[in-house]
Amino acid sequence: MEGNGKQAENLDVLVSTQKVIKKALDKLGYPDEMFELMKEPIRMLTVRIPIKMDDGSTKIFTGFRAQHNDAVGPTKGGVRFHPNVTEKEVKALSIWMSLKAGIVDLPYGGGKGGIICDPRDMSFRELERLSRGYVRAISQLVGPTKDIPAPDVFTNSQIMAWMLDEYSRIREFDSPGFITGKPLVLGGSHGRESATAKGVTICIREAAKKKGIDIEGAKVVIQGFGNAGSFLAKFMHDAGAKVVGISDAYGALHDPEGLDIDYLLDRRDSFGTVTNLFKETITNQELLELECDILVPAAIENQITEENAERIKASIVVEAANGPTTMEATRILSERDVLLVPDVLASAGGVTVSYFEWVQNNQGYYWTEEEVEGKLEHVMVGSFENIYNLSKSRKVDMRLAAYMIGVRKMAEASRFRGWV
Ligand code: GLU
Repeated sequence: MEGNGKQAENLDVLVSTQKVIKKALDKLGYPDEMFELMKEPIRMLTVRIPIKMDDGSTKIFTGFRAQHNDAVGPTKGGVRFHPNVTEKEVKALSIWMSLKAGIVDLPYGGGKGGIICDPRDMSFRELERLSRGYVRAISQLVGPTKDIPAPDVFTNSQIMAWMLDEYSRIREFDSPGFITGKPLVLGGSHGRESATAKGVTICIREAAKKKGIDIEGAKVVIQGFGNAGSFLAKFMHDAGAKVVGISDAYGALHDPEGLDIDYLLDRRDSFGTVTNLFKETITNQELLELECDILVPAAIENQITEENAERIKASIVVEAANGPTTMEATRILSERDVLLVPDVLASAGGVTVSYFEWVQNNQGYYWTEEEVEGKLEHVMVGSFENIYNLSKSRKVDMRLAAYMIGVRKMAEASRFRGWV
């Protein structure tokens, strides 16, 4: 980077997000105080969780829960289990959840949790103890009308079930609306598991229409084969697209004729690892630069940067992960006329169906899969159109347009409450 004489760009996701929030609030004409309120979560809890490991030792894990802004309603957002979780990252992720809620117009603010751990190296029982320990540690702060957790990177419906059970024991009442992403038999919703990928699929379809690209036969590259990436590969494959590249945390697979998605789905482990089955792999960096029409980063932050943005071949980039493209890369892609559908819109299908799950829990009346999907389709198409049209009318990229729509309701609610 320095060799090019360029400034090293900022890979701090919190700082980058704050910059875009500031721009969005300025464009909307809000005073600086509004930015002061929104630049950090209103509440941030750090907890230390002692867990008995299977070998008899005790390990102390560090966890976080951030609540960004609760002017609109209870805060909402997932819990990630990952060795690289940091306090700053959790803060940024909680801000992104506020934006998502604003974009798809849910009665929530944003929240997020994380535990520094590597679930790939932990047993089933150790994971259960950690999930329960986390809920005990944060129980004062969360609840069905306060802050509602959900799955995120390396957490799933089983972990939600343990967390629900622990919460119900502490509170001594059955409260299925305390957490979403639950198994169906515990009050989960049809369509929740595939919801993020469904939302991404809808954004890909809408973006392709704008660019005049036919999904049938289009070449798609997906970085990540976890919850979002794997369901997405299936949906794209079923829609007649050619998935020419996928990756996991260890490497990537490439076939210009299209990968055998059913085989890969069958062989992946619960963390989305699949490249260990193959001799010939490419790197994640090579994957991002493959020849394709549509690129979907569906893994982790800071993947498309000023280093590689010039070499991205896709004409559409749809962010299924949170924060995969840096601000500098966003600018480069926009200058190159690549249509970038930002994370806070593209990945909002997950929290949208989480909201449907919570509504079903609150009313005790459950919907069919068709009802859930019809409602999700309606929400995603409407949100895509709003942001696309705003980006055209205000001549800004879709990320800034999404932030403008995402902060608006929260800012108005904060103002009505007399906070600013
Ligand atoms: N973790 C997901 C996200 O980042 C879903 C959050 C939720 O369902 O509350 O959007």
